Amino acid sequence: MIKENSINELVSFIKKLYIPKYISDREKDTEGYFIPLHEPKFFGNEKKYLLETIDSTFVSSVGAFVDRFENEMVSLINIKRAIALVNGTAALQICLRLAGVKSSDEVLTQALTFIATANSIDYLGAKPIFLDVDRDTMGLSPNALEEFLNDNVELRDDGSYNKKTGKKISACVPMHTFGFMCRIDEIIHICKKWKIPVIEDSAEALGSFYKGKSSGSFGLLSAFSFNGNKIITCGGGGAITTNNDEIANQAKHLTTTAKVPHQWEFFHDKVGYNYRMPNLNAALACAQLEKLDIIKKSKKNIYEQYQSFLKITGIQLVDIPKNTDWNYWLMSVLLENKKDRDMFLEETNKQGIMTRPIWTLMYRLPMYERAQRDSQKNAEYLEERIVNIPSSALV
Ligand SMILES: *Cc1c(COP(=O)(O)O)cnc(C)c1O
Repeated sequence: MIKENSINELVSFIKKLYIPKYISDREKDTEGYFIPLHEPKFFGNEKKYLLETIDSTFVSSVGAFVDRFENEMVSLINIKRAIALVNGTAALQICLRLAGVKSSDEVLTQALTFIATANSIDYLGAKPIFLDVDRDTMGLSPNALEEFLNDNVELRDDGSYNKKTGKKISACVPMHTFGFMCRIDEIIHICKKWKIPVIEDSAEALGSFYKGKSSGSFGLLSAFSFNGNKIITCGGGGAITTNNDEIANQAKHLTTTAKVPHQWEFFHDKVGYNYRMPNLNAALACAQLEKLDIIKKSKKNIYEQYQSFLKITGIQLVDIPKNTDWNYWLMSVLLENKKDRDMFLEETNKQGIMTRPIWTLMYRLPMYERAQRDSQKNAEYLEERIVNIPSSALV
């Protein structure tokens, strides 16, 4: 069982780390001082670029910063194309649609994820199938994937079909939990054999690399998020990345109301979406991208401080999985059991430190209760034990 004393020691450590030095000792003890899990940091050209955008009057989804942001994503991810969207959920939805997912289909993903992964599948009318994760990466397990496919799926000329439901399995969406890279090369390899397109949910993994390659460069398509809680933010925003020019053009067209370009005619050739990122947000995104490396470096330093401190308390910091060059987005501890987890959450939050459990598994939620799933041994193990701790950069 976890010692209350080690929780208290960790609480003082986090307070020392995060409460600014200019606050007097007396104030530090006030109940009002709450240390968040992950704060956005604006310390670069954010205001300058925002003012430029306002002065230009190009505040909506056409503008110089949108183009610039897309070009910068292309270089960072080392990919052919990037399309800036309103948020990560919309990006996932469009990825799935362009991968060919239809309302009669099924999509493989993990149950241990943020709700947006599953919802984006449902938006298309498709059904998620939840597979287990690996304990070390907390991302989709290639072993679980292969086992499910071998036991339940029939490979035909035009793709894979679920033997139980007769439905086509038209995509697989692994997610890089907290910026840890899942075993993406193995997943791509398996899915290729089974003719299933892979879409990376890279919402949490901007700045993470796997065997030297950026997250968001492995799948047919990938989705990023720039929401306020992510490693960098533009208020709300997302991006799709792909090496396929044809798909990239479709992504841009479909998210720009499917308007056929013309000087004055309004002609739309399908039901499109108004999903493009506004230039105001892109201005913020460009300024934030410039600071990504500094933010990562600071977070690495914080992780290392946690590492040396936690070694002496008996609380286990979650290790970086092999092959991940991590962005250090959200750090976490692994408690011994659910009882310890609940006590840890209770005590830390009571003492002004924001900590949060990992997500409730998708099939425990009413909308996804009836979804097909495998054993979930690792997902359930992690669900009972993982807690995120404050991880903001100090810049
Ligand atoms: C944040 C997040 C999303 C959704 O991104 P939004 O920009 O908030 O819509 C999707 N998937 C995962 C895993 C996320 O963490």
